Amino acid sequence: MRIQSPRGTSDVLGDAALAREQLEGTARGILERAGYSRIETPSFESTELFARGVGEATDVVQKEMYTFDDGGGNSITLRPEGTAPVCRAYLEHGMHKLPQPVKLWYHGAYFRSERPQHGRYRQFWQVGLEAIGSDDPAVDAESVLLLAEILEAIGVQARLRISSLGTPDTRAEYKHELQDYLRAHEHELSGEVRGRIDLNPLRAFDADHPGTRQVMAAAPLLLDRLNADDREHFETVKRLLDGAGLAYEIDPTLVRGLDYYTRTVFEFTSDALGAQSGVGGGGRYDGLIEELGGPPTPGMGWAAGVERMLLAAPPAPTAPPPLDLYVAHAKPEYKDPAFKLAADARRAGHSAQLELGGRSVKGVFKQADRAGARYVAILGADGTTLRDMESGEQRVVDSDTVMHHITHGL
Ligand code: AMP
Repeated sequence: MRIQSPRGTSDVLGDAALAREQLEGTARGILERAGYSRIETPSFESTELFARGVGEATDVVQKEMYTFDDGGGNSITLRPEGTAPVCRAYLEHGMHKLPQPVKLWYHGAYFRSERPQHGRYRQFWQVGLEAIGSDDPAVDAESVLLLAEILEAIGVQARLRISSLGTPDTRAEYKHELQDYLRAHEHELSGEVRGRIDLNPLRAFDADHPGTRQVMAAAPLLLDRLNADDREHFETVKRLLDGAGLAYEIDPTLVRGLDYYTRTVFEFTSDALGAQSGVGGGGRYDGLIEELGGPPTPGMGWAAGVERMLLAAPPAPTAPPPLDLYVAHAKPEYKDPAFKLAADARRAGHSAQLELGGRSVKGVFKQADRAGARYVAILGADGTTLRDMESGEQRVVDSDTVMHHITHGL
């Protein structure tokens, strides 16, 4: 049996590879103009980082991590998300000594052992940012705006929902209130939601089960329980987004899959995507750095799925890069000078490809045409035959003058 790529992974070829490069370039331009600099963290980390950072009770940590022993008794996990690793790096490199906030962006592969479906993979790519060290609501609004700008630039039409989760204390109190409410309605809930009342009652808002949905329609909302500071923070975020002309909906039931969020949370969804409609999202995580053993440090970030963005806004096919010269030899003894000519042409800054398929002269022209070559050089006993593929003009030239001709014409 032939070996295939593992389930939920795929190869990136041709136009798809170009589209990804373009997307990365668009994101880089927008984020670097706003003062974000690039960070790359390893593809795997200590399992404990995600257990502590993402939260033991989350689906990601409970079911979706690729975890293995590194052979030396250390538990390692392929990164399922980027925020905890960036916070780990912030602490490890003493970035609290830099002017705050530290603004970082990234683009890389992430791994979750989920059931694959359209838009959901086991290895997927994310572009993301983290702004660590400021609790200014302008950080929240600006980062949301930057993702909106990226989505607009690549042509993704997305709906923005925002909410606030408050601070851990408010959340803990609210959690008890919600648990009491859920227990009072236990018999109407789905088995799964009932089983999670103790561990993660907020997830009940995510349920599709009709009985659960009915119960949740009348459930108390965290947004109505925020303390004065959190309410003011949220009001400022909304005011800044209004001022920037960015449309959003307030969704008091917005829960994100990861435990570390505080205050602002948001998500962009696209109707073009079907069931897996989340294009990107994130929020504030003012307790995460402390959870990882650092000093109390506020932070805000998001991540957006590269595959999902490209599914939501399929890019137009791009033209192949221009090819200045296609080089072949007519006889075996001209193999070496042909090889050298292609290499010299590239060193001189031209794009040049060498005939590597052993084609006949007719085949060479056909292949050069397919590759979009402007000039074809065939080295033989009479000298170098140079053809301008645009005009069809062909001449035998001195091999030393090929470079001159492909710059200045035949
Ligand atoms: P999350 O960290 O779950 O909020 O994910 C952020 C973004 O990454 C989502 O909005 C998706 O666009 C993308 N994403 C998350 N999980 C997957 C997956 N399994 N396959 C493809 N994209 C994903």
